[in-house]
Amino acid sequence: MNHARISSFCRNKNIKNEFGRTFRRWIHVGEKIHDFSVIDKRKIPELELEYIRLQHDATKADMIHLSRNDPNNVFSIGFHTPADNDKGIPHILEHTTLCGSKKYPVRDPFFKMLNRSLANFMNAFTASDFTFYPFATVNPTDYKNLRDVYLDATLFPKLRKLDFLQEGWRFEHSNVKDKSTPIIYNGVVFNEMKGQVSDSSYVFYMLFQQRLFQGTAYGCNSGGDPVAIPDLTYEELVNFHKTHYHPSNAKIFSYGSFPLKENLAALSETFSHFSPKTINKPEMYLADFESEKRVTEYGPADPVMPPDQQAKFSVSFLANDTADIYETFALKLLSRLCLDGFSSPMYQALIESGLGSEFSPNSGYDSTTKRGVFSVGIEGAANDALPLLEEKVYSVFEKLAKNGFKREKLDAILHQMEISLKHKSAHFGMGLAQSVPFYWFNGVDPADYLSWNKQIEWFKNENKDGRLFQKLIQKYVFENKSRFVFSMYPSADFSTNYQKKEAQKLQEHVSSLSADKIKEIEQVSADLLEKQSTLEDTSCLPTLSVSDISKTTEKTELDSVKMDNVPIQWYKLSPGLTYLRVLFPLKDFPEHLLPYLSVYCDACLSLGTFDENIAELEQHIRRYTGGINISPSLVTDPKDLYKAGLHLYVSGYCLDENVEKMTDLIKKVFYGTNLDNREKLAIMLKTSISGVTDGIAERGHAFARLSSASSLTDKARMSEQLNGLSQVKVLSELNKAKDLDQLVSYLKEIQHIMKETRDVKVAVNAASSQQEVVKKSLKNLLPSPSADPAVGKQQDTKKFEPSSTQVYHELPFQTNFASSSYVGVPYTHEDGAALQILSSLLTHKYLHGEIREKGGAYGAGLSYGGVDGILSFFTYRDADPSRSLGIFTEASEWAATHLFSESDLDEAKLSVFQGIDAPQSESQKGVLQFLDGVTDDMLQHRRERLLDVTAEDVSRVAKQYLVNGKISSSTILGPKMSIQPAGWEISTLSS
Ligand SMILES: [Zn+2]
Repeated sequence: MNHARISSFCRNKNIKNEFGRTFRRWIHVGEKIHDFSVIDKRKIPELELEYIRLQHDATKADMIHLSRNDPNNVFSIGFHTPADNDKGIPHILEHTTLCGSKKYPVRDPFFKMLNRSLANFMNAFTASDFTFYPFATVNPTDYKNLRDVYLDATLFPKLRKLDFLQEGWRFEHSNVKDKSTPIIYNGVVFNEMKGQVSDSSYVFYMLFQQRLFQGTAYGCNSGGDPVAIPDLTYEELVNFHKTHYHPSNAKIFSYGSFPLKENLAALSETFSHFSPKTINKPEMYLADFESEKRVTEYGPADPVMPPDQQAKFSVSFLANDTADIYETFALKLLSRLCLDGFSSPMYQALIESGLGSEFSPNSGYDSTTKRGVFSVGIEGAANDALPLLEEKVYSVFEKLAKNGFKREKLDAILHQMEISLKHKSAHFGMGLAQSVPFYWFNGVDPADYLSWNKQIEWFKNENKDGRLFQKLIQKYVFENKSRFVFSMYPSADFSTNYQKKEAQKLQEHVSSLSADKIKEIEQVSADLLEKQSTLEDTSCLPTLSVSDISKTTEKTELDSVKMDNVPIQWYKLSPGLTYLRVLFPLKDFPEHLLPYLSVYCDACLSLGTFDENIAELEQHIRRYTGGINISPSLVTDPKDLYKAGLHLYVSGYCLDENVEKMTDLIKKVFYGTNLDNREKLAIMLKTSISGVTDGIAERGHAFARLSSASSLTDKARMSEQLNGLSQVKVLSELNKAKDLDQLVSYLKEIQHIMKETRDVKVAVNAASSQQEVVKKSLKNLLPSPSADPAVGKQQDTKKFEPSSTQVYHELPFQTNFASSSYVGVPYTHEDGAALQILSSLLTHKYLHGEIREKGGAYGAGLSYGGVDGILSFFTYRDADPSRSLGIFTEASEWAATHLFSESDLDEAKLSVFQGIDAPQSESQKGVLQFLDGVTDDMLQHRRERLLDVTAEDVSRVAKQYLVNGKISSSTILGPKMSIQPAGWEISTLSS
């Protein structure tokens, strides 16, 4: 390996320069390189990249390469995989291809590569008509390793029957080791999809799409309906792979600074094992309707919303063939003009009027299907709201068709597009890898899709008379018979009916099993368990080594600029954008106001001031900034876990010339919001509770962790209050309150405190030439230094008493999330590094196998917050949470007595550094130092400790902090149980 200690960033730079020279010399259209022909090549200056389209000569595999001066390289291979039933074949295949392949015949090479690599992104996705496998890394060796694993996995997977049973579905005794327990369904995808069924937004969107697109592949559930999944056979899966995972059906995407030629050589070698193949493609274009269609469905009820305010409705219009990229662009603009923000006409007519609490999940123009669809809908509506919705939608469109839009609204949207092109995230390439396929698989030329400037030019030309949107509304709303009206009503029985449906299917299924078949199932369970328990030799897999990790932390060059008494941290950028961040300390913040702090932040950006309503203010925010955010922020002292500071964090960014306008806007909303605007406050509260239960179904593990950690430190307690289930309860109560008087008075107290708050800290990422204007703007924004010595004086913090708790949160779910938390150490403590390594080792070496592979839960792990100092075990979409809690304890004991090998440690170190060394965008530089007070020296010290962690260190900290950890708390989120678990506190969202 490379022993010269240069950072990977420098290494990439060298390659890029070398590549740049050779590249210009020889690539041109018509050129043949490694059995590929270059069929298109052009510069796309607005994205600062060079676009090359290639085709593999023999198989016609389709490829694009986006050459760009960016070290964070991306690779992805995808296949067109339209489904013709709801058994979830594409999704289960996506999982099973990653379970071992010809060159890498180990169990689960994908998960094993997670800790043999420094990739900052590795995943696989199943969309409704294609499946793709992307990753991103800055390390050239890593890139080659992962590309080879991905290509072998997708084109030469083992697809063993046992993989299918583990990932897809299987019969087994509910306790695999006890044959007297009932036979049930289990499987990773089966449980994953059961988790989705609890999410009413997901159910709405899926059913909407399936009913609308009935007769095309989009009408099938490519992820799998849990009730249909058990109809899938192993043979069907293998056949589907044979027909669809072939180079002739593949699209390959590569991005970044690494050499194209090397990539093509590897692809060519892989594809040489295939002969060309014709793949029959089903019709993807949805034909016009004879007349309007109406469909009604039922979905899960939400316990935190009023039962009579949960209906979801939408009115949809079939639009263009999305291959027409220009009209697609115009329809996207039209969608934003109609639906985006407080000033948009649909928002005012449907949400501000109180008809719905939020737009329905399908609202807007959807161009991800072959035929585009324009939808307007609401959720959180009364059951009889549909006629009024339709009336209002048509009346808004009628007005717009007559009068068009104000010029300034279009300007604000074009400004947002301009600023989004300038604001470069570190994951720019991955963003493209995830958006391009939706168009590419539908026959759009990716170059056309990526050429923004051409689309804007076309638009300006077409819209010379200013009537383009009016014409589009006329064409797609008023002259269009292909309309689709979709309704979904909440059903209190949805969850139990679903369980019944599954139970009935299971019962029929099981009762048809012969005694021999049951014996076979038991044998297969035993085989699977044995396979999952066998330690295997993974040396066939490529790996990076610890020497690939840089020994030194890349320094963040931060200047400090003084202005009066306000310290400003300055990170120098080249001219273009200015990023501003301000931290307001909330010392001795009154406890009774804590639950309302997030509401206050929301209010600042939702209610408007005494002089301007929020629609106008928001219009200005969009016209002059890239966005303004206000949120609570908790900071732990890197040297003391029990010292936590609460802050209000304000941030925003804009084009350099708009700094004064931006700070002016921040000042208006931050100090001048009219908190007496109860009408807007009520709408805001209604919107904030809308879909919150779906959010818990989606990120239940995060809520479980917040809950189990909350009894351990003061910061964790406050964090749960601000972001956890406690906050959901507060919002639910506020939505039920008779009046808002009490809330308004709390919010005014907070606003008063903010006006009195001094000792602010500021961070700016901008060009040095911006210093004078930033200082001037800040003087205008910030309060003058404190005259009253009592204000802002640090008082002794109340002593927080940690305690052990066990809380069961009842939710209307089909599945569970479990978590157990323990106290670790502050960031600068010597044991922090070993705890971080321990969390990776337990996740990969124990929990994954015991809980995902054997238990069938979608995911499990041990997280360690370096700055928070809390260790949290967690599971995701888990069928048996009490088993998981037991495994958490066993895992701790195992780690305390197990002697980890050198290669185990190396893998854990690689996986930990994936996060630490993930590329950072210029706009994010210095944020860690600013928000958490973690200095470059602390980072360097932690890096050295991490690299030095030994097996003994890991066992020692496992024993000290987990096994002998005196205080620990557990949480389960799950469906109501018939028997209350002993010693557990039961909590519900609705009181
Ligand atoms: Zn999945």
